[in-house]
Amino acid sequence: MDTPETTQGLYFWSRRLPATAISIVFMILVAISIVSIYWFQSIQNKAYEISQANIVSENLTQSIAQQATDTFDEANIILDELIERVSNDHFLTNIEAAQKLLTKRVFTTEQLHGLFFYDKHGRWLLSSFETTPDAANNSDRDYFIFHANNVTLTPRIGRAIISRTTGEWIIPFTRRVNDGDGQFKGVVLATIKMTYFDQFFSKFSIDDNGAIFLALNDGTIIARRPFTENLIGTSLAKSEIFSIYLPLSPADTVMIKSIIDGVDRLFGYRLLQKYPLVVAAANSKDAILNSWRIGTAKMGAMIGTVLLVNTFVGFLLIKQVRHGARIETDLTKSQATLEKLVLQDPLTGLANRRHMEKSLQLEWLRATRNTSPLSLIMLDIDFFKSYNDHYGHIAGDQCITTVGQTAARLIRRPSDLAVRYGGEEFALLLPDTDSTGAYIIAEKIRCGVMDLAIPHQENPAGVVTVSLGVHTCIPDSVDYQLLLAKADSALYSAKRTGRNRTAHT
Ligand code: GH3
Ligand code: MG
Ligand code: MG
Repeated sequence: MDTPETTQGLYFWSRRLPATAISIVFMILVAISIVSIYWFQSIQNKAYEISQANIVSENLTQSIAQQATDTFDEANIILDELIERVSNDHFLTNIEAAQKLLTKRVFTTEQLHGLFFYDKHGRWLLSSFETTPDAANNSDRDYFIFHANNVTLTPRIGRAIISRTTGEWIIPFTRRVNDGDGQFKGVVLATIKMTYFDQFFSKFSIDDNGAIFLALNDGTIIARRPFTENLIGTSLAKSEIFSIYLPLSPADTVMIKSIIDGVDRLFGYRLLQKYPLVVAAANSKDAILNSWRIGTAKMGAMIGTVLLVNTFVGFLLIKQVRHGARIETDLTKSQATLEKLVLQDPLTGLANRRHMEKSLQLEWLRATRNTSPLSLIMLDIDFFKSYNDHYGHIAGDQCITTVGQTAARLIRRPSDLAVRYGGEEFALLLPDTDSTGAYIIAEKIRCGVMDLAIPHQENPAGVVTVSLGVHTCIPDSVDYQLLLAKADSALYSAKRTGRNRTAHT
């Protein structure tokens, strides 16, 4: 609630600060508020878009991880069955029947490209293909060397390679086979078609600059959308996902710049629980923020227009206000000048008779209220008619001015008023001044005029002199004319008794 002090304070400041400054400050505050709201809103919208994209990336990686797990689970079950069969020596006695069984498995399992069994020397003992390359030997393959030298029976997923049989990109999924004594008997291999992953990846809607990949946990890419042949087998070990984020958390969403193509993407990544694989899916930052950018730009353009119009209209209004204020100042000045002129004597610059009437009324009332003395001195230049005749009217005017200003100079209080009463007559209104004080002032003026030593041949004193009549009263009636009449009669008395003197009644 406004206290009287704050209201007064506001009033004081609104009087002190020009309307223009207030308007400009107001316009700037409005502009700052609008821009702040816009900025805040835009930051919030951006955060919302990114949070939505996080959810999309998370869901995407979750689905791809599930599909990759299912794909290798199925292949693992088939390898289980194959290991069991090749452990039984009877199975290998009828190679043709065994090969047909493998062909059937491959035919009925979509992701499978082939099934193989190599003996401990790497020789092809069995495959799902009808023909076996002559003297084919896979003992040089990574997975073979690994299983021959590692006793673990857990499956191994290898780097993507090009099939020696069909020339297709395949992912080798292998397990070690032991004989009854636990000695290395050979390797079973299920080759997984990379196209199976490509087709699955292509079902997801990601933007043109988005990416999906499946990699070994050491960072080696084994499938990627978009498919780029020379990227298969390259390592992402130095990428932020593998070097920074995976050690911190097995699944997350992160905004990073791709080391492959330099595109900023929001990646969702996930390390599979059952297999040493990492899947990741990403939309590009540009695509995620595209609608936000367009919306923000549109809103920015609208706000810019509003601010421009606001500024333009504001300046027009300020111009109007300034114009109005100038007119008001001019009017006030003119009015003050007029009032001054109306109350001023043009020749001497002293107050005129009209001014005196007003002041006399006010001082009369004040003195009545305060029962304080009010004095009036009437002054008339002696032998002035003959001064005019002798020295001329212009010199006469000059003399009147000098005498008037001398009288005005010798009264000191701010409330005292020197008036040109008419012709070469002056009145001096002295509020709160008793008769002794008024007499002293009158004498001071009389001497002051004589001291001017303005030559006046027609005056027996040889210089310009004045006669003064003083009257002092403590008003008790409403008629201030009495004061005038009494002072005038004192002046008459001064004239009659020889001039160049002060008389009081
Ligand atoms: P006294 O000593 O009795 O006052 O003699 P006086 O000649 O001064 O007589 P009075 O006061 O009646 O004379 C006034 C003269 O002052 C009349 C006129 O010539 C002159 N006068 C009045 N107003 C002006 C004025 O504005 N300018 C000039 N130059 N003379 C004025
Ligand atoms: Mg006179
Ligand atoms: Mg006179």
